[in-house]
Amino acid sequence: MDTRPDPALAARLEKLLKAKLSELGRELDDRERETSELLPADSEEAAPVKEEIELREAEEEHEARELRLVTEALERLRTGRYGSCGTCGGRIPDERLLAVPWAANCVACQGRAESRAGR
Ligand SMILES: [Zn+2]
Repeated sequence: MDTRPDPALAARLEKLLKAKLSELGRELDDRERETSELLPADSEEAAPVKEEIELREAEEEHEARELRLVTEALERLRTGRYGSCGTCGGRIPDERLLAVPWAANCVACQGRAESRAGR
């Protein structure tokens, strides 16, 4: 089954993915700079700063994960595997792709994965 979106939609999705990619790249760059500026000068300041750094690292991890998803989606778009669910192989609806262009699973499989993860 051909799960590829039609060329007009694919072009639109590619644009969305690339915009997201550069946005995430910028955010990660900024964050790296900010975090290195936060490094404590003396031990008295270290505790609150450490918490701040941990918070930032969690956010950074989240962004890095999104970055990976977006990169993988662009790769799928290039190789023609885009638009099919990575779990059941079914077609991911266009509306879902437009809402979440980096979605790698259909709603049903994503829902199952998330309930397994305890979310
Ligand atoms: Zn699926």
